[in-house]
Amino acid sequence: MILLDGKKLRDLTADRLKNEVVTAMAESAISKPQLAILQVGDLAESNSYINQKKLFAEKIGASVIHEVYPTKISEEDLIAEIVKMNRNDQVHGIIVQLPIPEGLNKQRIIDTIDPIKDVDGLTAKNVKRLLAGDEQAVIPGTVFGVLSLLKHYEIPIDGKKITIVGRSMLVGKPLAAALLNENATVTICHRHTENLAEATKQADILIVAAGSPHLITKNHVRESQVVVDVGINFVDKTVRLALKPENEIPKKHMVGDADFEAVKDIVSAISPVPGGVGPMTVASLFHNLIQAWKAQW
Ligand code: NAD
Repeated sequence: MILLDGKKLRDLTADRLKNEVVTAMAESAISKPQLAILQVGDLAESNSYINQKKLFAEKIGASVIHEVYPTKISEEDLIAEIVKMNRNDQVHGIIVQLPIPEGLNKQRIIDTIDPIKDVDGLTAKNVKRLLAGDEQAVIPGTVFGVLSLLKHYEIPIDGKKITIVGRSMLVGKPLAAALLNENATVTICHRHTENLAEATKQADILIVAAGSPHLITKNHVRESQVVVDVGINFVDKTVRLALKPENEIPKKHMVGDADFEAVKDIVSAISPVPGGVGPMTVASLFHNLIQAWKAQW
């Protein structure tokens, strides 16, 4: 079984991007690539993702502006902040950290981002480009991360049967579009799919993005199949400190959508959680930032 190691590929990607930045800045008098992260509220999960982005930026010589707004910010005020970032020529990429509070019109807010600075690839203009198979389309970080893992491990996509579990606008749908553009035959499953196991087993590559811990069991996979697990779930696990029962504490444990232990000896390759798609999502965001930076010289 081959482990699709996202941490290793993230580090290789960081080295490549760092070289690109150093070389470009040595050749001409341009400012550093800069990402603006706009966060509404203070969700612990978002804070953790933003920290990972800041660390990666530091590794490759990019900088980050991180603005935090109160949860009661009005839609118009948030839009005005995005417009300010659009006009700032020292800012090359803009992301609105999701989720944002309900009551704010997410798509209207995202569509305010200048498409040239849309490094998450979530504006309607970019989604349309991706659907059209336009090479200029910005591929969302998670989708680019999955594609990069498959390509790095030389797993063929062209002509292959790929089943995706999940149909969100963030992962499942753009992933399906990107894989169609790579000439795969794509099946999308969701909560209403009848006989999920039949659909997952027929695939050469199974990609799970459902947000449902251990949804994929040994009954959903077969030999010589590749499994890419996008899911991030936190389940309770009891940890015993110093081997004393009275010192047992509950701890959150990160797992994917596939039951890794149950399927790893059946399939030919699988991405772990943590350490698979997650690290590649961050690296891919910065791949997009460097592309946007170059397009704005
Ligand atoms: P979502 O809740 O918006 O969508 C989940 C999709 O899965 C839906 O289309 C739903 O129909 C389908 N689904 C859920 N349970 C199912 C079931 N039992 N059977 C069949 N289909 C089912 O979630 P999302 O934003 O697309 O994220 C999906 C997962 O990917 C989450 O765990 C999220 O945390 C993770 N995620 C990971 C990364 C990463 O970088 N690794 C990035 C984004 C999202």
